[in-house]
Amino acid sequence: MRLANLGGRLVIVKSDHALDVESASNGRFGADPQAIYEDWAEFSTWAKTADFTSAGGFDEADLKAPVPRPRQVFAIGLNYADHAAESNFTLPADPVVFTKFPNCIGAPNTDVELSGTSVDYEVELVVVIGRRAYRVSAKDGWDHVAGLTIGQDISDREVQMRGPAPQFSLGKSFANYGPIGPVVVTADELADRDAIGLTTQLQAGDSTTTMQDGNTRDLVFSVPDLVARLSAVTVLYPGDIIFTGTPSGVGLGKTPPQYLNRGEVLISTIEGIGTIRNSLT
Ligand code: ZN
Repeated sequence: MRLANLGGRLVIVKSDHALDVESASNGRFGADPQAIYEDWAEFSTWAKTADFTSAGGFDEADLKAPVPRPRQVFAIGLNYADHAAESNFTLPADPVVFTKFPNCIGAPNTDVELSGTSVDYEVELVVVIGRRAYRVSAKDGWDHVAGLTIGQDISDREVQMRGPAPQFSLGKSFANYGPIGPVVVTADELADRDAIGLTTQLQAGDSTTTMQDGNTRDLVFSVPDLVARLSAVTVLYPGDIIFTGTPSGVGLGKTPPQYLNRGEVLISTIEGIGTIRNSLT
């Protein structure tokens, strides 16, 4: 199943059509794309039998963040060995965890206003929690996941590194620095939920360059492992999201660093999920 936020309303997407959940369910489920995760088990059972005759075409430009108001946003640093190496860090024994404050979550194809001259890109698989998780084992981790989406963990490196100790959370939380979408896809739709390709491309004028090309099979801490390790400390609530970390190829890792410029378009793609496009202004 593929879920989206079409102009503020929850829809199920099938090929290029969208089914409005509130009207198709005669009000049994509401229109709020965030609230559905509170009712995930019941909703996903109903969705299997939903009648698509009233589904209609839609414009991708009208898609908003599919998970617009997560209570908690977890983000994982240095979760691919090649990215840890390019950042000059040794591999962590425990996940490096920070937050992107929820207000930075943006629509999949939103424009992003750059906050400075050292703004970087990080394509990431984003996990959406579908069931309250506390002290869950890694073996049961996937059972607490509603679905997966694409995220860009856009990062102002100057703000991130400012001060006596790094400010990961603040430097990554400017407006729209967390665009997500275009859809939340349930893991059963993917060929292999533990091996998913992800890329960042950068379009400048007529040329498009691949900046990152990774696969989640190389995650240091896998999706179920992250659910276990985060929930060992704190409760994960339905509708919370986890940015699972980025593979190598970020601008900071290049010599000299290569940061984002106004006029460029950031194109982030995850196999089996889709693509989000962000014009930089
Ligand atoms: Zn990141």
